[in-house]
Amino acid sequence: MFSKIWMKFNGQMGLQTPPCNKHKVQPILKANNDTDEKDIGDQEQLVNPRSPPHSKISSDETYEAWMVEHPSALGSFDGMMKAAKGKKLVIFLDYDGTLSPIVNDPDSAFMSDEMRAAVHEVGKYFPTAIISGRSIDKVKKFVQLSNVYYAGSHGMDIMAPPRPVKANDGKHHNVNTDKKGNEVLFQPAKKFLPAIQKIFTELEKETRKIPGARVEDNKFCVSVHFRQVEEQDFKILEEKVKLILENYPEFRLSWGRKVMEVKPVIEWDKGDALEYFLETLGLNNTSDVLPMYIGDDKTDEDAFKVIRRIGQGYPIVVSSIPKETEASYSLHDPSEVLTFLLRLARWRKSSLSSRSVSQIWHTDHATL
Ligand SMILES: [Mg+2]
Repeated sequence: MFSKIWMKFNGQMGLQTPPCNKHKVQPILKANNDTDEKDIGDQEQLVNPRSPPHSKISSDETYEAWMVEHPSALGSFDGMMKAAKGKKLVIFLDYDGTLSPIVNDPDSAFMSDEMRAAVHEVGKYFPTAIISGRSIDKVKKFVQLSNVYYAGSHGMDIMAPPRPVKANDGKHHNVNTDKKGNEVLFQPAKKFLPAIQKIFTELEKETRKIPGARVEDNKFCVSVHFRQVEEQDFKILEEKVKLILENYPEFRLSWGRKVMEVKPVIEWDKGDALEYFLETLGLNNTSDVLPMYIGDDKTDEDAFKVIRRIGQGYPIVVSSIPKETEASYSLHDPSEVLTFLLRLARWRKSSLSSRSVSQIWHTDHATL
């Protein structure tokens, strides 16, 4: 039934399938590409993992076939914006692998000044939130913008706008204002904090002897990065992490792009964070709101699913390889995200006067 709704929606949007970008096509498994070799999360999602890794022609064809199902958001831009005319676009952005490149040292995943300027431009014209797996403090430090909202720890730590929260589904009740009184912090996993700290300490201690392993405290979740771990050590690392978690049944382990994530078992993910933002912005339950979510990893799929369930909006996956995804559109890499965001801001700028921007969007948002 849902697919029918989605097909109907796509039909209404007048979506076009753009010509494939041949110059962007890359093999599924590049033997010489360190970035993808140990990326278990991505490998699990490959559409056709049995394709010969060195067969560029075959991989190109597979990527092109995938692009037909997930057309380029750049190639589809005009159609997307035509359908968005008169509606309210709300922009959600992942951080790592979307706004910043995936790099060996997770502490060095800086975004470029150009990307920062582009996100700032987008934040001027649309309600914009960054939803990351990092701690909210770290992602704010990376992004350094005051005109966007932030959610850290995969949406478990939200700095939302100061609006009354309508707890109509019973989920949104743990709300506090911060010291300044002008923001609202929503932390659905707060009770897990002491256990998370214990897990972090144990993981640090137990993985210290594995060269390249990095444990990151993301406040409501813990990341074990294995980007720089030698292949022969990975199994040992994985076993150590699993052994520690045996003592913490309220936590689960998941895999992202070169990272193991330890999270509390709660019904809350990036999709819930997206809905929470829409609600606190007063933009839920309205047919003229189009949420747009751009992300590259498994945890972003939860947000894509929510947009599909809502039945309107633009789920966009960032990927240079074909993979299973709930997204409707794709962007090849962060550099395409940059181009897309600049185009988005320019489109809005040209269609609105500066006066009408603050009228159409919330006045308090425009002054953030
Ligand atoms: Mg990411």
